[in-house]
Amino acid sequence: MAECSKCGKRKTVINLEYMKEEYCGECFINLYEKRVRKSIRKHGMIQRNDKIALAVSGGKDSLSMANVLHKLNLDVVAITIDEGICGYRDNSIEKVRNFMQEKEIPLHIYSFKEEIGVTVDEVAEEHEEQSCSYCGVFRRKLMNKAARELGCDKIATGHNLDDEVQTVLMNLIRSEPQRLARMGPVTGLKDHGKFVPRIKPLRRCSEKEDAVYALVNGIDFDDGKCLYINSSSRLLTRECLNKMELENPGTKFSILSSYDKMLPALREYYRGKSGDIGECGKCGEPTSSDECKACRMIRNLI
Ligand code: SF4
Ligand SMILES: [Zn+2]
Ligand SMILES: [Zn+2]
Repeated sequence: MAECSKCGKRKTVINLEYMKEEYCGECFINLYEKRVRKSIRKHGMIQRNDKIALAVSGGKDSLSMANVLHKLNLDVVAITIDEGICGYRDNSIEKVRNFMQEKEIPLHIYSFKEEIGVTVDEVAEEHEEQSCSYCGVFRRKLMNKAARELGCDKIATGHNLDDEVQTVLMNLIRSEPQRLARMGPVTGLKDHGKFVPRIKPLRRCSEKEDAVYALVNGIDFDDGKCLYINSSSRLLTRECLNKMELENPGTKFSILSSYDKMLPALREYYRGKSGDIGECGKCGEPTSSDECKACRMIRNLI
């Protein structure tokens, strides 16, 4: 194995093709954490005295995110959502429990069955192709409710560079530019007392970098795959982007940088067009229509 491009002393653990450099574990940890801190600062993700909800699934991304934020000595609690996916979630919840115990971070587990009334397994019996749509909408709703109940000001997620760039492309392909305005480093177009903004500290760290960061830190993460992942339209976008990155290292960063440059204009435009945020007539959660998307989807299931 080659020697580290940074210190020239230790053996390398990762090839950073887009920088044309290879780093050892120690230098890579420094680079990774510096990049996360820079993203937080640049996008004003965290304000002084903010209480942060760490949205953790037990995978490499969310546990790496939790590790960095824990090292920053922030006021944090962890939230895990149990979607009710047999043979998948139980194992990852165990990993979350062990990690949080070791770091002494309070952990709160919320389940779809108890809070929404239905598990993803039950949804999939009739609507397997749409499992991810239901799962995503229910998870966002429950995470927002949980973070608010716990008095949190922000929800930090493990969304990485790959996730963010895939979402940008998918919104372009589906011709949904208004969604581009709502996403970004700190989510949301308009404020509402019941809406807890989501922040993405890892948005400039790739999936591979999250895995290597977790491994060199000895984080025991779950690398199992949800059985419904094949129904996700994200897979094709992911493959295309990975091919482009292989041919042309740095492509993902370029797409993200272009998106960041367009974001202020997109926000300005769609802020003027979108209605005010009110509360769902059924569940009271924030929404821009009379009924929130989760309640609408539950109604369609019955
Ligand atoms: S793959 Fe789909 S169903 Fe499985 S956890 Fe992810 S969003 Fe939910
Ligand atoms: Zn080094
Ligand atoms: Zn509702």
